[in-house]
Amino acid sequence: MDADSHSDRWSQLNRIVGMAMSVLPHELGCDDCLEFFAAFADYHLNGTAIPESLRPVSEHLDRCPACLEEMRILVQAMKSE
Ligand SMILES: [Zn+2]
Repeated sequence: MDADSHSDRWSQLNRIVGMAMSVLPHELGCDDCLEFFAAFADYHLNGTAIPESLRPVSEHLDRCPACLEEMRILVQAMKSE
């Protein structure tokens, strides 16, 4: 287990979330949503609560079966890494 790469991963994640906070509109389109899928899936796989800033992604997934399917595939892929 490489502790350094793990913390790198989290600082990267925090940066994405910070970015999400500044750019996410209330209503996300599919393309906007895709950019945050990796971060979202990371939280999901870690069992960490989804941060408030990624809430619009979560809401989009509730409304959009196509993105939900994309997310499901991504989570599966990350699990088997
Ligand atoms: Zn969508």
